[in-house]
Amino acid sequence: MSNTPLKTSSLHADSLLAHGGGGYDAATGAVVPPIQTATTFARDEAYEPIVPGHIYSRDANSLYKQTENLIAALECGAESRLFASGMAAVAAIARIVKPGGTILAQSGIYWGTTHFLRKHCAHNDIALVESDASELQTFLDEMAVTQPDLVWLEVPSNPYLKVADIPKISENCKSVDALLAVDATAATPLILKPLTLGADFAMHSATKALNGHSDLLGGVVTARDAESDAWKFITEERQVAGAVLGSFETWLLLRGMRTLSLRVERMNQNTLALAEHLLQHPKIELVLFPGLPGHPHHALAKEMMTNGYGSLMSVLIKGGKEDALKVTGALKVFQRATSLGGTESLVEHRHTIEGDGSGVPENLLRLSIGIEHVSDLIADIDQALAEI
Ligand code: PLP
Repeated sequence: MSNTPLKTSSLHADSLLAHGGGGYDAATGAVVPPIQTATTFARDEAYEPIVPGHIYSRDANSLYKQTENLIAALECGAESRLFASGMAAVAAIARIVKPGGTILAQSGIYWGTTHFLRKHCAHNDIALVESDASELQTFLDEMAVTQPDLVWLEVPSNPYLKVADIPKISENCKSVDALLAVDATAATPLILKPLTLGADFAMHSATKALNGHSDLLGGVVTARDAESDAWKFITEERQVAGAVLGSFETWLLLRGMRTLSLRVERMNQNTLALAEHLLQHPKIELVLFPGLPGHPHHALAKEMMTNGYGSLMSVLIKGGKEDALKVTGALKVFQRATSLGGTESLVEHRHTIEGDGSGVPENLLRLSIGIEHVSDLIADIDQALAEI
């Protein structure tokens, strides 16, 4: 049994999150739901499921439902589906497009998504067009020429922190009959709600800030329209292709989300303070963070985002690859690791990961800002920059 719904449907997102989207368990009074480990569910003497919809856990279980309902509420969407990872969620959306179709994807986004789309499209006779969605007119022109079936955006983009105009692109999607999916992982649903800006699907790697503790892989897709054929396809895709989130991971995710609004608040404050500090730093050439008034997409970010601008930023240091690696090597609080959205701050030299030919500048460091005390983060970066 899932926990009873909270009695007030008009609660603020912070309050919904604090209760994990549910009240107490009706059978036991427990204020947190148990881990639902059952893979199969019993039927009664008339062979009807004892709990409607509960047949086999690849289809649904009470813990998925509670977690999915909470995320759907945060996104102002109709329904959500959890997946085994962010990439499983990306793949489920991409598979909507049939052979012979076209996907128009933002360029310069999370390299795993680009890598998957290139492989998937090449293997399935789908045309893939990549274009910088933050160059609005060029992107709209590309849309008019390519007439895509699916448009893929990532807002803000990882690692360049570009911000695409979701309302304008979604208007154009409607005129060419394209579906619009937005990966808003680096923002979280508290900051960016793509569905309210016209997107058909909002997607998150739940591995990142939604869970926030760097201890599970997960993904989630939320739909604006639960009745659309595309949504029915995605739902069936999860069930038949089987990229479901494990029970323990679902439980951990719901537990992590209880503190999402507090974490996002602190991470936003830390990121903005660090970005402002680095902007003035003599060893920094450029700070890429849409929360800074000088960022080229700040005005657009301000229009679309609420509660801040997220906790991901990149900096170009003055110097080359060796200097960048020297700075990362000297950091003591920031951990040298990939990923983002956790309580701990991380630094990454993306060029080392993506390699020559990726276009990632050799002096770029990507920073995921955590919930530490900001003065420790500033002191850590300052002492590391003093090494070059
Ligand atoms: N989308 C973005 C923006 C990401 O940064 C990542 C991972 O870093 C993913 C999707 C993929 O998520 P996962 O690692 O959970 O598969």
